[in-house]
Amino acid sequence: MKIMVSACLLGQNCKYNGGNNYSEKVDEYVKGHEVISVCPEVAGGLPTPRTPCEIVNGVVMNRNGENKDKEFRAGAYLVQVDMTGDSYQWHRLDVEIWDDEENYGFATIFED
Ligand code: SF4
Repeated sequence: MKIMVSACLLGQNCKYNGGNNYSEKVDEYVKGHEVISVCPEVAGGLPTPRTPCEIVNGVVMNRNGENKDKEFRAGAYLVQVDMTGDSYQWHRLDVEIWDDEENYGFATIFED
């Protein structure tokens, strides 16, 4: 099985603050499979570390009020091309990631 997963969940320091969101559970889940590690924000040309962004009225803005929509769209597009340029059919899995005490939220994993 081929799995596309967020790079920061695998321990790559591509998160906005220069760190990562390493998850042992995700690491375990992908073991033995072909893994495609992606960071759409970096792929779109944003540096690490970077100012955090959020969607404001449908546009991605960073906390300094700068428009980063183009970079986010470019990154999403490039990752999508990685997926669709392949002959695989991808399925999206939303995986809940739990630490012993803290809920890290959801990870999105694409698998063939
Ligand atoms: S874009 Fe994805 S892989 Fe990159 S830092 Fe954000 S959550 Fe992690």
